[in-house]
Amino acid sequence: MSRVLVIGAGGVGSVAVHKMAMSPEIFSHITLASRTKAKCDAIADSVKTRTGVVVETAALDADDIAATTALIQKVKPVLVVNLALPYQDLAIMEACLAAGVNYLDTANYEPRDQAKFEYSWQWAYQDRFKEAGLMALLGCGFDPGVTSVFTTYTAKHLLDSIETLDILDCNGGDHGHPFATNFNPEINLREVTAPSRHWENGQWVEGPALAKKQVFDFDQVGPKNMYLMYHEELESLAKFYPEIKRIRFWMTFGDAYLKHLDVLGNVGMLRIDPVMFEGREIIPLQFLKALLPEPASLGPRTKGKTNIGTIATGLKDGAQKTIYINNVCDHEEAYAETGSQAVSYTTGVPAMIGAALMVQGVYSGAGVFNLEQMDPDPFMDMLNVHGLPWKMRELAAPLDF
Ligand code: NDP
Repeated sequence: MSRVLVIGAGGVGSVAVHKMAMSPEIFSHITLASRTKAKCDAIADSVKTRTGVVVETAALDADDIAATTALIQKVKPVLVVNLALPYQDLAIMEACLAAGVNYLDTANYEPRDQAKFEYSWQWAYQDRFKEAGLMALLGCGFDPGVTSVFTTYTAKHLLDSIETLDILDCNGGDHGHPFATNFNPEINLREVTAPSRHWENGQWVEGPALAKKQVFDFDQVGPKNMYLMYHEELESLAKFYPEIKRIRFWMTFGDAYLKHLDVLGNVGMLRIDPVMFEGREIIPLQFLKALLPEPASLGPRTKGKTNIGTIATGLKDGAQKTIYINNVCDHEEAYAETGSQAVSYTTGVPAMIGAALMVQGVYSGAGVFNLEQMDPDPFMDMLNVHGLPWKMRELAAPLDF
């Protein structure tokens, strides 16, 4: 009997709930709560149609710690899966502590008024979760999430030591809109416009946003421009693998996306500070979000594939080796199975897998954890079974850039 409460009825929440319903032997009761109950009900209808499983739904403002605690006490889950926005992380962690329940999320906390991505706020909960005998598993999507699992698997089985690590995130999908984001626009645009940062020789090296470009030929997608960026798993990887000399994160963007981003930035539409408009304060980025297509609406129109993976160079039995582990996910197949495109799918499936491993007690502990601290093997096995098969191959040489 594993009751779970999922919070957040966006693209990622929808995929996670569909996939949980496909494993009723693990998830016996699923409740989905979010700010807009109608979105929960629509997901529950789709789950019922596709799997026959009934998902309970509830309206919840997860910024309200008392309301979230009360809902947890009513639902009595063994785990809360937070798939709302990063802004809600701390409030939901507080509610889990108040109600005595384990916690999982896919993105680190961000304050609304600063585009700042770091684990410090959530790692600060370590003692409180430990003393309560509860487990919080942070960053259990694809990146962060599976990319850390790929790295841990490489360190456990394939290399004796890792010297350099590159994470390559390619979305080769086309949704046909001139400009849209594949997950929450506000979170996505804050992330891509942040200064680039990578880990090198024990320190962070900063640069302007999206200034360093590299072409890479992605399996089943083809050559794409990818850009050096900061991404939150760099912090946990640098913490848990201090021996790695250089850790970088690259993401692909098309020229049209970058042109729009440039113009929107130049005219001030990406600002996250309040500005006065016709007698009331608005935050330009939140207004822009209201104009852009909802990520969930991209599902039926997105074609192509994502290809995300890690390339690690290091030593094995004294010889240098370069190991590439990656997953290719097809937008149309993801949509046919769950009603959501591959960016939501590649996040929702790992969230379901992390939740499954926690509710089954395979992943356990008291405190706040990142995936680097967990055994990668059961996670890697489940990726192959639940729709995100991975491939591992040795490259002839380390990356030459
Ligand atoms: P969406 O914007 O599609 O969905 C977010 C959901 O959270 C919406 O249903 C929204 O409700 C709900 N929500 C927002 N605020 C509250 C609140 N105060 N109380 C209750 N519910 C609330 O986002 P995605 O599904 O694309 O992303 C979900 C999470 O996954 C985000 O944290 C994102 O950063 C993360 N993510 C992680 C990735 C990874 O690989 N690790 C990749 C992609 C995303 P409403 O509909 O009413 O606005």
